[in-house]
Amino acid sequence: MNKLEADQKLQLVLAEFRNYQQGILPAGPGARSLTEFFASIDADPNTDATAAPKIQRNDRDILNLLSKRANVLHLGPANYCWFTDPSRALCLKLAGTPAAERPMIGMCDSARCPQATHHRHHRPVWAEHAERTKTFLGHLGKTRTTERARLQVDYDRAARVITSIDTATGTSAPEEQA
Ligand code: SF4
Repeated sequence: MNKLEADQKLQLVLAEFRNYQQGILPAGPGARSLTEFFASIDADPNTDATAAPKIQRNDRDILNLLSKRANVLHLGPANYCWFTDPSRALCLKLAGTPAAERPMIGMCDSARCPQATHHRHHRPVWAEHAERTKTFLGHLGKTRTTERARLQVDYDRAARVITSIDTATGTSAPEEQA
């Protein structure tokens, strides 16, 4: 990874950390892990005096921790991939190459992979996909049952991802119905 790419990823992770601090959370199977990571480095000193003291970190410490996380970030078109553990990568399992050193973004199934997160700016990609799938469904003849079932699964998955993004980010959006 060159310096420009590393800087860009660090800025993305920093932006998500700031979002976390404002209550705008990640969604997706990897959301809990990322949120726990952010919580572990959050050094907000505005704590209740009676609470256990938090470790207070300066900006440089925080940036160092965030840049370590940025080193494992891969950018998918509709998700972030936090490639911390190849053995947990769904794409590598599906490809039969569990020890590979890089994720296979082209085979990403981010709705099911424990290393994937979805963020607010991914929502338009999912919304467009849901809309397109809905249009295809509307044009399918009733006899195309196999194709219809496949598209419905695809649509339902996109709708679930959109709902989870809206919930995590506190966005209220109209329901998309098939
Ligand atoms: S399935 Fe997607 S999120 Fe999971 S490791 Fe592969 S590319 Fe990353």
